[in-house]
Amino acid sequence: MSKVLIIGCGGVGTVVAHKCAQHPEVFTEIVIASRTKSKCDAVARAIGKSNISTDSVDADNVEELVALLNRHKPELVINVALPYQDLTIMEACLRCGVNYLDTANYEPKDVAHFEYSWQWAYRERFEQAGLTAILGCGFDPGVSGVFTAYAAKHYFGEMETLDIVDCNAGDHGKAFATNFNPEINIREITQNGRYWNEGEWVVTKPLEFHKTLNYPNIGPRESYLLYHEELESLVQNFPTIKRARFWMTFGQEYLTHLRVIQNIGMARIDEVEYNGTKIVPLQFLKAVLPNPQDLGENYHGETSIGCRISGKDKEGKPMTYYIYNNCSHEEAYRETGMQAVSYTTGVPAMVGAMMFLTGKWNLKGVRNVEEFDPDPFLAALAANGLPWHEVLNSDLEVL
Ligand code: NDP
Repeated sequence: MSKVLIIGCGGVGTVVAHKCAQHPEVFTEIVIASRTKSKCDAVARAIGKSNISTDSVDADNVEELVALLNRHKPELVINVALPYQDLTIMEACLRCGVNYLDTANYEPKDVAHFEYSWQWAYRERFEQAGLTAILGCGFDPGVSGVFTAYAAKHYFGEMETLDIVDCNAGDHGKAFATNFNPEINIREITQNGRYWNEGEWVVTKPLEFHKTLNYPNIGPRESYLLYHEELESLVQNFPTIKRARFWMTFGQEYLTHLRVIQNIGMARIDEVEYNGTKIVPLQFLKAVLPNPQDLGENYHGETSIGCRISGKDKEGKPMTYYIYNNCSHEEAYRETGMQAVSYTTGVPAMVGAMMFLTGKWNLKGVRNVEEFDPDPFLAALAANGLPWHEVLNSDLEVL
């Protein structure tokens, strides 16, 4: 019996709204608010349920957020705007006594750098207020952390290596497009890689390390080592992990476009003067690239995201474990009008919200997903469109 406020109505926000609306027994009232209200109205109309209303907000502005929260008095905010808005929304939640959930960690607009320190700095304030903030509850970060917690709970006495492997084998038929917000996506991929090894971070050049990995039902795909935010919390919460890495697949066509975009300065995030107006090239590029929300219709193929873990089982014997989900772009589109990358992010956000609102995830303070019980989350994930599979003692390919 709870009211939820979804902030942000892009690809991910649209999926969250659709999935919350499928559970009126949990999400009794749904408010969708974003910078552009007409987009929220269109999503609410497409879902067509009477318990959905819409509003507008500039989530960079704490006062506007406070007014929004006071107008609607939700129990939980699901933040699926951009990572730039995480801190303003957390601040407003604290001021209004509202719980918080997001899918991506805070990034300052002027530096392409992401880490949890800014949001972890809110731990004491959320705890003292008796509120919960659930960080990184999409797929990766999100399900990747829950998969790791599930492996620790049910299989491993000691996890030693963790490789999160993220493959998008879909084809949208465009020469170049990103699957989620282009600005956030290109910032993530063009920065240095980083992985955890024997107690310290090893920095690599952007996309310097790659290898061919085989994905279930897909086959071999070239996979590139990136830094990804969940590595930071996972090596803290599971300190036996000696090495933790993140891999993502990219096609040659995508990488060629990316190289050109960088070489001609269009990936720059500093302001340049153009005809008397200040513009940020990467933000301008976003305006001319295909909108990730519009890719769904012609998208074929599937994604495969999972965790490959090695270590010792509960009896001390060596073991390997691979847990993954495959998601079809076509099926995601049929259900929500969005492609699988938005779908695999939005479903876990709804499931995390459901865990909180039904009391299954009830820790106070600022928490990463792996701190909660993975079992009810993974049961609900499978029941809500993202079934998962396990393979024990196979070749992980990543050793
Ligand atoms: P989109 O760009 O499609 O949507 C972003 C939405 O946020 C838009 O509705 C936009 O409004 C709104 N917004 C932006 N700035 C503001 C603001 N100042 N005030 C209010 N609303 C604002 O992005 P996606 O849906 O693809 O991604 C959403 C989030 O999900 C991102 O943070 C992304 O990093 C995260 N993500 C996480 C993944 C995971 O697995 N954990 C994977 C993929 C994405 P407008 O329409 O007016 O521009």
